[in-house]
This record gives sequence, C-alpha cells and structure tokens, in this order.
Amino acid sequence: MENQNTQSETPRGDSDKKSVNKVNFQAARGVRDILPNEQKFWQYSRHIAQEIARVFGFRHIDIPTFETAALFDRSIGSSSDIISKELYFVSSKEEKDVPIDKMLALRPEFTAGIARAYIENGLQTWPQPIKLYTQGPVFRHDKPQKGRFREFYQIDFEILGDPSPKADAWVILACWEYLTVLGLTKVEIQINSLGSIESQEKYRKKLKIYYKPLLDKLCTTCQTRFEKNVLRLLDCKEVSCIKHKERKCAYHN
Ligand SMILES: [Zn+2]
Repeated sequence: MENQNTQSETPRGDSDKKSVNKVNFQAARGVRDILPNEQKFWQYSRHIAQEIARVFGFRHIDIPTFETAALFDRSIGSSSDIISKELYFVSSKEEKDVPIDKMLALRPEFTAGIARAYIENGLQTWPQPIKLYTQGPVFRHDKPQKGRFREFYQIDFEILGDPSPKADAWVILACWEYLTVLGLTKVEIQINSLGSIESQEKYRKKLKIYYKPLLDKLCTTCQTRFEKNVLRLLDCKEVSCIKHKERKCAYHN
C-alpha cells in the first residue's frame, strides 16, 4: 500500500515528529486483555455456565451492551442533577446535547436490561415463569482495586414471572452448581433478605433518623445515597463510614 506513513504526506518539524513517536498506547484504567494462554480457562467457565443453564432450563438471551441510562438509575429520569457515579455514559459526535433522561449508558449489570427485554418483547404473554440466562462484560466506573475491574464479566440467571421464594432458590442453586462443577471447594453462600416492603420502609425510616446527625462525617457518596437510597449506606467500604455502620448494626438488626 502507498502512503502509509502519514509523516511523509504532512510535512512536520523535528519536534513534532518526536512527540508523534512518543505516543504510548496503554489499556485504559480498570480494563484488561485476556491473552490466548488464559482463554482455555475462560472458555471452560463459559461452557460450564451454558451446561448448567441447559440442565436447569434457562434459555439464552443476549441483550445490548448499552441502554438508556435511566433504565439503570431511575433517579436520572426524575432529577437531572443526580447522576450515578458508577455509570459509563455513551455518546456519539452527532448527539452532543442529548437531555440527561435520553442519554445512553453501558450496562452495569444484566437484570435491568433483561427486565426491559421481557416487557418490550411481550415475554409476559408466554407461559410463565420465564427462565433466562446470559453472560458477558458489564461496566462500572468503580475505584479500581486488586482483582476488581471497570469492565468485568458476569454470568446471569434470571427467573421472571414467578414472585415466590422458590424462584430465588432455583437461581441460588444454579449458581451453587456452577461454582461447584467448576471445581471450587470452599464455596459459601450468604443469603440475605431485605424483608417485606412494609418492614423495609420501617427500617429505612430508622436508618434515616440514625444517620441524619452523622451526615457530615460520612463520605460524599454516602451523603448522596442518604436521600436516594439510605439502605446503600450499609454497603459503603470507606473507613469513615464503616464504624458508623457497625454501631448501627449493633443497635438494630
Ligand atoms: Zn460512605
């Protein structure tokens, strides 16, 4: 091919040439390459997930990598100045002034997209429950830490159209089978429940009363979450917040 060297097409000074040569491309923070010698492990784990899905009767679905951001964070639709810090927003050159409730974001998890697909494609008219399975990358703009990435991979089992705890038990069992068939031996499943809607509401009120006088001692994320979803304060890993959480959990549980 001719003229591959752009420097010969566009005359530049010596200093320009040096700066062009210095460009050093690196993977963005929090993402990684999966090299050929690691592929066999990835392929094996995907294959096992497919097999578990088949045995448990979960059918494969693929959903888009990006969706309307409001699907992942309902506060976007109602309040323009609350933007979830974890979301990666997607925009193209042509779409510069898109209103925030129309903006697109990379999926941070699968459940919201699958629920959207279920409704949009009329799957609620099919015989229920619908058991779906998917896998692939998800994206969260989290603080990168050892073993934690901003693009990471999930395997997802969902049962829709069955509100009973039986459906939860099936999903937990499928995950358990997946991990044990992979050969993991020290697997521990911790089951948690947020309780009924009424008891959640009561607990939220108690949490708000507890945290209100402590607000200025909490991290900025928790200060935002206080209004948005006070239960999330109990997830915080910041040292300044953990001690208040421990005190809280000692009082009411
Ligand atoms: Zn916090």
